[in-house]
Amino acid sequence: MLHEWGGRLSYETVGDPRIGPTDALIRVEACGVGLTVLNYTNGNHGRRPEDLPRIPGHEAVGTVVEVGAAVGTLSAGQRVMSYFYLFCDDCDLCRLAHEPLCRRLRGQVGVAADGGYADYLALPARNLLPVPDGVSAVHATAIPDAIATPFHVSRRASIAPGDTVMVVGAAGGVGIHMVQMARAFGGEVIAIDRGAHKLKAPSEFGALAALDGDAPDLRDRVRAVAPAGVAVAIDLVGTAHTLDFCLAMLGPRGRLVLLTTFPGVATEVLPRSMVQTEISIIGSRYASRWEVAQAARLVAARRITPVVSEVVPLTKVEHLHDRLRAGTLLGRGATCPDPS
Ligand SMILES: [Zn+2]
Repeated sequence: MLHEWGGRLSYETVGDPRIGPTDALIRVEACGVGLTVLNYTNGNHGRRPEDLPRIPGHEAVGTVVEVGAAVGTLSAGQRVMSYFYLFCDDCDLCRLAHEPLCRRLRGQVGVAADGGYADYLALPARNLLPVPDGVSAVHATAIPDAIATPFHVSRRASIAPGDTVMVVGAAGGVGIHMVQMARAFGGEVIAIDRGAHKLKAPSEFGALAALDGDAPDLRDRVRAVAPAGVAVAIDLVGTAHTLDFCLAMLGPRGRLVLLTTFPGVATEVLPRSMVQTEISIIGSRYASRWEVAQAARLVAARRITPVVSEVVPLTKVEHLHDRLRAGTLLGRGATCPDPS
């Protein structure tokens, strides 16, 4: 339970959530742990007093135990995962399957509504999507965000065979799946992260090059691999430094994709150089439900391998948060309720 933005979580006994007619109740089997949870609990995406206290966790996987009277799409016993944007399902953008851009967005699971760091979770039935057979609960926690988000990014950036795709932050929860997804779309990947120990995994997933972001001659190393510049740069770190670096590495007609942002971070863009090289700067916000389902299909087909490197019981979840803050966790983590 989070009681204060930026505070540590406390482990508490609370009542089971209640469901309304359009909701479903799931027994949580596992919930993903990644930097987005920390961004949310730190209040980077909003600090509304009415959102506290709150149970965090937006990547929940579990089994349906109860459905509301008006729910016709789910039944008890079904395995599901959370779609974590609380969209209205009625506005023009929702109807066009741009749910993250919903005009009446209520916020995110784990911020505006209680999330999956719990034994039970109640959500609108439309926020629960089926988990394919043969995918474990722990692996499935990576699908709703860490794998679906790269699927949306790849479509936003129109990654195509022959494109050189530079991923900055390539060993993190979204990054390690972004490396795989860019390859699944036909791209050749230059993976960048900090520290040699974090570069092994992107290499194992087929990155053309894995480079240490702290190397003083990083720009030369990227140019050695992509002499004409990269076709796509994906900034998963989101500092002014990484933004400038990504812009500098783009080749003609290059696309910079932005999705990790922090309040107050900005960079200078020169219209003249944008025109002369026809580069594009593309914002990418989460993924649609259809894209989450496609991400799940790619996992079930073994074309994307979920990387969940550490699983802890709920009582130890702050230990994983500490590792995320220290930047020592490869890929995603997950937490599971204590067996009872
Ligand atoms: Zn809507």
